Amino acid sequence: MTTQEPIPLVYPSLGEAELAAVAEVFASGWPAGQGPRGKALEQQLAGRYGVGGAVAVTNCGAALHLALLALGVQPGDEVIVADYTFPAPAHAVKYVGAVPVFADVRADTGTVDPQAVLDLIGPRTVGVIAVDTLGMPADYTELLQITGRHGLFLVEDAACAVGATYQGKEAGALAPVGCLSFHGRKGATSGEGGALLTADPALAASARLMSSFGIEPIFDQAKVVGLPIPVFTEAGYNYKLSDIAAAILQVQLGRVGELLARRNTVAARYGELFADEELAAVPYVPADRTHAWQSYLLTLDPRVDRSAVAAELRGQGIGCGHGTWACHVQPVYDSKQTCPVSADLFSRQLAIPMHAELTGPQVERVAEAVRAALRRHARPAA
Ligand SMILES: *Cc1c(COP(=O)(O)O)cnc(C)c1O
Repeated sequence: MTTQEPIPLVYPSLGEAELAAVAEVFASGWPAGQGPRGKALEQQLAGRYGVGGAVAVTNCGAALHLALLALGVQPGDEVIVADYTFPAPAHAVKYVGAVPVFADVRADTGTVDPQAVLDLIGPRTVGVIAVDTLGMPADYTELLQITGRHGLFLVEDAACAVGATYQGKEAGALAPVGCLSFHGRKGATSGEGGALLTADPALAASARLMSSFGIEPIFDQAKVVGLPIPVFTEAGYNYKLSDIAAAILQVQLGRVGELLARRNTVAARYGELFADEELAAVPYVPADRTHAWQSYLLTLDPRVDRSAVAAELRGQGIGCGHGTWACHVQPVYDSKQTCPVSADLFSRQLAIPMHAELTGPQVERVAEAVRAALRRHARPAA
């Protein structure tokens, strides 16, 4: 039993400003989607990311689905997806009846390995979904070269990467189509939420139509004089983000810099506290990119019994987890592929508390507890 306060793995930074924004929506009489707040959020996103088209949607899974629909992916097509990630990209490929082909990742960053992508391109390949793994941007210079040369689309799943950069550019705008998540465990949140970003106006229009049952926004129609009767041109979905969530996100987007600065401080402190730890390696961030620190993953030495360490930490009220998933081993895909690097990271990484509300003493308590647990649960060196 623990006598100390629990330290959660993740914690959303939602406060008075977000509440005040919600109160305004209540008073406006339009809590549904694609209203004034939704539009304002889309403009804010378009400005922040320097793209013409931003479509606010219910979640990143929906954004990925809409992206593949708008890109015209057909049943039987193959889409190459990063293997080490929350499996939303491969799920989206399945939603449209296409086949996910899993690309292994770099051992040092966990992001998709461009050479693995190249090796998997075949006659049925139509595109690639890269993932900014847990907030770390992938290798877009190489990926854009490969997709450009082979006439493939490239989608950036930047679900975890709001605020990260790659070669000076914002994550989310590193590929022709970007998908963001505003789920409660991401760096900016409205509880649930997402967005599709693209510079291609036709693609944005198609995604917006499909996010709204296949008709033009109802809020706009209501303002037209006369009695317009909307026409359904597509069997679209209802993926509209509510104006309540949009209002929360407008506040959260304004706070990205502040919240990321606090997570950067936590990451830097962990870096110092684990610097001489032989049983765990801290994340590696290449010099040409910055991390959004959606999660902080240690890579444990193969001698360490990860589940014993995790059980001990949880017993002390310290949140921890396995990090993310090797997708190719998930039963849903019934894949015959192997991705050894991804499988290895899946077996050895450990997520420790990372969020903007962590205090210095909490970070120190976590590091101390982790280091003690590593010692207790490591086999002696051979
Ligand atoms: C969280 C996550 C998603 C899913 O986001 P939702 O908004 O919950 O649908 C997609 N991709 C990645 C890489 C994620 O981490």
